[in-house]
Amino acid sequence: MNICIVGTGYVGLVTGVCFAEFGLSVTCVDNDERKINLLQSGKIPLYEPGLEEMLRKSMKEGRIRFTTDLGQAVRQSLVIFIAVGTPCDGSGMADLQYVREVALGIARNLNGYKVVVTKSTVPVGTGKLIEGIIRENCPEEFSFDVASNPEFLREGSAIEDFMRPNRVVIGAHSQQAVAILQDLYSPLYLIETPFVVTTVESAEIIKYASNAFLATKISFINEVANLCERVGADVQVVARAMGLDGRIGSKFLHAGPGFGGSCFPKDTQALASLARERGYEFKIVEAAMEVNRGQPLLQVQKIGKALGGLDGKRIGILGLAFKPNTDDVRESPALYIVRQLQGEGACVQAYDPAAMENARGILRDVQYAADAYEAATGCDAVAIVTEWNQFRNLDLERLKGVMRGGVFIDLRNIYAPEKLEAVGFRYVSVGR
Ligand code: NAD
Repeated sequence: MNICIVGTGYVGLVTGVCFAEFGLSVTCVDNDERKINLLQSGKIPLYEPGLEEMLRKSMKEGRIRFTTDLGQAVRQSLVIFIAVGTPCDGSGMADLQYVREVALGIARNLNGYKVVVTKSTVPVGTGKLIEGIIRENCPEEFSFDVASNPEFLREGSAIEDFMRPNRVVIGAHSQQAVAILQDLYSPLYLIETPFVVTTVESAEIIKYASNAFLATKISFINEVANLCERVGADVQVVARAMGLDGRIGSKFLHAGPGFGGSCFPKDTQALASLARERGYEFKIVEAAMEVNRGQPLLQVQKIGKALGGLDGKRIGILGLAFKPNTDDVRESPALYIVRQLQGEGACVQAYDPAAMENARGILRDVQYAADAYEAATGCDAVAIVTEWNQFRNLDLERLKGVMRGGVFIDLRNIYAPEKLEAVGFRYVSVGR
């Protein structure tokens, strides 16, 4: 079966490469010529473990190709996935301009029955919007179905998440579309993946509700941590004990500087805005967002307190990506923290194993280092902001030796306080 994926970002590229691995014939489309040229040469424009190797294998076996020509890709495909970005518009709603553009391109190239599937995270009603655009702009009357197949992959473990998902959600109003999509995912039946088949509207909201719930869980444990700091309790122990309750679960119960990334901030906002637009205030999600806005600032205050003020201080930041194993810095709490530290007069040196190139385009006046030790050199404090594995076993004696001060800020609680204190560091973490 020929399918095409429009948008070769984190989601589109992983989807394309994984479907090719399932044995389908895949055409990936992007309007960014530079990206397509790079992909055609077998290189990927983002950091995702294992993806480039898998891409090269499928390219060699002729199952995947890349193009900027949407029309030809649409004409050759039975299924077209839309995986373009849906960032926040000025009002907090999802900006659907790229989705609209693609829908128009599909309409103009329809040459027979197609299933048009949204993989992008889109608000309720987008399926209808796409249907309307195609119907109005298709020069001839061809039949088509619009379906929703939200993506739940996580950057950093995207291949595993796609190949072994917790569930596949298919929203469609036609049996034919459901059958075709189930067929695409047929290798997952072998590993007994649960399939949720529902309406387009329910599928659209499942994605937002899932992300908003996870974001709320993070904000919840961050508030518990903030309280722990005030009462002398240890959030690590509290979270562990909470997580052992099967009804709660241990995932997403890690206190830290707040959630970031390309999804949680915009998806919580989009859900809250959608609710407001429909005359409902989604109070829990609004509160989760508010807590998250404050969380990086609380960490900066904490750093300032440990250093007796920030003006003129030199701080080494370890980690800029919003989480480990990605180069994505979109809405990363590290960016807020760096800017705030600089705003209060501190100098920042930083190191990230993958995200420095992306951070360079956003942050000003940061000195980028070749490794964690160079980032710490001459600093009053060093702060772990992203929990890359590289930072879990630092040579603490060496680190202390290159610094001029002795404050160690661990915003991911990856070290045992005693271990740091034994080396002579003043250790500051979250909720302990
Ligand atoms: P991205 O910004 O990394 O990639 C989007 C791509 O679409 C870009 O390469 C862009 O050039 C391309 N594009 C835009 N307009 C186009 C057009 N008219 N024609 C062809 N290509 C076009 O985005 P992403 O992180 O992959 O996210 C895509 C969607 O998936 C979003 O809705 C996001 O919310 C959702 N999502 C993302 C993740 C994630 O972890 N990143 C996870 C699940 C769902």
